[in-house]
Amino acid sequence: MRGRAGRRMLAEVRASESTYRCDACGLEVRGAPAGRGLLLFPRGDEVVREEPPLCEKCALAISLTALHRFIEEEEEG
Ligand SMILES: [Zn+2]
Repeated sequence: MRGRAGRRMLAEVRASESTYRCDACGLEVRGAPAGRGLLLFPRGDEVVREEPPLCEKCALAISLTALHRFIEEEEEG
């Protein structure tokens, strides 16, 4: 039982990573996502967490933007 469920989960992960659509630019890319965004949506009492896949270019751009904002906040703080 346990082993079968494990294999099925692994197969689903592989299938979802064969191609993906970048959440930022909409480009369809083959292979594993270069990075993932992190979105948190408050829904009632719980927070829904989503990690949309990002292509290499967008993952880099978004992480640099986040880093830049972090540095700015530090300087203002
Ligand atoms: Zn992209």
